[in-house]
Amino acid sequence: MKIMSINAGSSSLKFQLFDMQDEKVLVSGLFERIGIDGRYTIKYNGEKITENIELNDHTQAVNILLEKLIALNIISSLDEIDGVGHRIVQGGDKYSKSVLITDEVIQDIESFKDLAPLHNPAGLLGIHALKENLPNAKMVAVFDTAFHQTMPKASYLYPVPYSWYEDYKIRKYGFHGTSHRYIAEKMKEVLGRDDLKIISCHIGNGGSITAIKDGKSIDTTMGFTPLAGIMMGTRSGDIDPSIIPYVMEKEGKNAGEIIDDLNKKSGLLGISEVSPDSRDIEQGISEGNWKCALAEEMYVKRVVKYIAEYYVLLDKADVIVFTAGIGENGINVRKEIVENLSALGIKLDYEANDVRGELRKISTDDSSTLVYIVPTDEELMIARDTLELVQNG
Ligand code: AMP
Repeated sequence: MKIMSINAGSSSLKFQLFDMQDEKVLVSGLFERIGIDGRYTIKYNGEKITENIELNDHTQAVNILLEKLIALNIISSLDEIDGVGHRIVQGGDKYSKSVLITDEVIQDIESFKDLAPLHNPAGLLGIHALKENLPNAKMVAVFDTAFHQTMPKASYLYPVPYSWYEDYKIRKYGFHGTSHRYIAEKMKEVLGRDDLKIISCHIGNGGSITAIKDGKSIDTTMGFTPLAGIMMGTRSGDIDPSIIPYVMEKEGKNAGEIIDDLNKKSGLLGISEVSPDSRDIEQGISEGNWKCALAEEMYVKRVVKYIAEYYVLLDKADVIVFTAGIGENGINVRKEIVENLSALGIKLDYEANDVRGELRKISTDDSSTLVYIVPTDEELMIARDTLELVQNG
């Protein structure tokens, strides 16, 4: 069985085609600058093809993708693609797992648009483009929010008028659920237990930390939108909301513009005034840039704060996992975080930590809690869910 996983952005479309027999990636790539000018990158058999080509819309991008798959002999007929899984950011409180896409599901994704105004419309573009080009393949929606639907009410409600929840569904939804679920399943496999208490730190350009008990999310740092929680590359994470009207007045901006500043001009970028990328921040630190040092110190402090909170919530943890760009590759950031957890008896094995992008235990044998690096694989989770629903859905 061949399954395609799709992650559509407003002007991009990432894909991976899996042979589910052995979960091997046959081909992967990215169409970008769709509707602007256009470029694609396709990786297969250790080769990489890049071409600038006019891409008017997502349907045209998918059309070119499928033509290339046949031209490159990756598949001989489109019928070989049995299913397509789509990453959808917001599934509201209706979807607690992945589903086969029906007209009703499409309408729901559409109706959750005001909760995820940038992401859900992009997901729909991907669904429509694939449906047009592959009318016979089964389509599956895999929601970023679904894994967090197990959170108890005391975790997902905000201490605001209850009617806001009843009338407007103001609550914590949480995101990166597919990645946190992958971490939970991988740790179950690695440690051979399913009663684990895990603190999953998905820290990349976006970032969220999730407390997982017995395979279920019980709290997570992102909230009503992905703006909440820890400091990120360009997002502030949690701030005092009173700052918003105050700066609106000072700068003559509207609420949307301030939210844009909090999403795109804050976090590591906002404090360092250099870059949202932790590699640039570390470069800045090595050159003596105090704002870069401050940005990293603040970043670490906020991650540590939530790990400590979830350690208490879980009544100790069995394992802390680092994943995503910074979690998998940021040797120094991991070191700083774990060193700041010494009050909990958590100890880093410095030699083991000196690695990028590898599944590995990085705590010492006398550490109170295991610490692991686990490379995440959201695309594989999407493909596994899709296979399951194509076969049994
Ligand atoms: P992601 O959003 O998961 O792709 O993560 C992106 C972030 O990971 C980048 O902003 C970098 O800060 C970080 N990152 C990626 N590769 C490295 C690396 N080799 N060393 C340190 N940080 C890295």
